[in-house]
Amino acid sequence: MDNKLAAAIERDDRREDARMHADDRVTCHTHQAWADDCADRHRPVTAGRLLAEARELDRIRART
Ligand SMILES: [Zn+2]
Repeated sequence: MDNKLAAAIERDDRREDARMHADDRVTCHTHQAWADDCADRHRPVTAGRLLAEARELDRIRART
């Protein structure tokens, strides 16, 4: 990962903590990549995926 991407992910994480909508991210926290580069890696929503996302959100919220 290059420094620019790392900085952008950190910035998106902070903005999301400040209640920016997740859709406004330019990076993907899950894949640690630019949103445009990983869009095709996202699978259709399943119950398991929703649970994983909920856990991830809890982790993000707890990380302050
Ligand atoms: Zn992604």
